[in-house]
Amino acid sequence: MTATTIEGADQLRVLLVEDEHRLAESLARGLREAAHAVDVADTLASARQKLELERYDAVILDVNLPDGSGFGLAAELRKRAIPVPILMLTARDTVEDRVAGLDSGADDYLVKPFAFEELVARLRALQRRAPESRPTRITVADLVVDPAARTVTRAGRPVEMTTTEYALLEYLARQAGQVCGRAAISGAVWDENYDPFSNIIDVYVSRIRRKIDQPGLTPLIHTVRGAGYSLDPTRGIRPG
Ligand code: CA
Repeated sequence: MTATTIEGADQLRVLLVEDEHRLAESLARGLREAAHAVDVADTLASARQKLELERYDAVILDVNLPDGSGFGLAAELRKRAIPVPILMLTARDTVEDRVAGLDSGADDYLVKPFAFEELVARLRALQRRAPESRPTRITVADLVVDPAARTVTRAGRPVEMTTTEYALLEYLARQAGQVCGRAAISGAVWDENYDPFSNIIDVYVSRIRRKIDQPGLTPLIHTVRGAGYSLDPTRGIRPG
């Protein structure tokens, strides 16, 4: 299904708030196949909890939820000036609901039933309208990460990365100089199916370290014992 592949687009972290489990599962599966990280919430309470913990690139929000209306959550996010794009989903298609949805702060409105391709097209449109969510280049010493082009250069030389390697490096670069714990990294780069007992983060950190910190260059990626990892040009030579 080439129509659903988001070619050259950023990997998005999406919160899907939908209580119809079969629909939620099929949408989440489709979005994951398109290389996005998807968390699913089936109540407003669960959605609020996830929104407290994560920064999402988009929220897909059902209107009728067991503990209230999606309009309320959209309004809350806008009141708190959280700039995440919101796409409302609903079975209702009345003018009043459309207006209520857009008034509450939703950016777009999709009426059920809809084709998956339509959802993807709307998500892409929302990302194009949300430039502030994707700043231009991140530069840390001689490392340049370009989220728009999803390219990386170190000391002027391009570095080839897989999607996950890139996502991890972009996350570390955004928090440059700070220590990033495993929980924060897994939350930002992996979705909720991440297994906290696996060593996948360590495996990916060693892979990007081999690519980024070539011999002769200042090591940028540091292990902070007992705490996590830090991308920091000022920590100097890595002990051990
Ligand atoms: Ca519903």
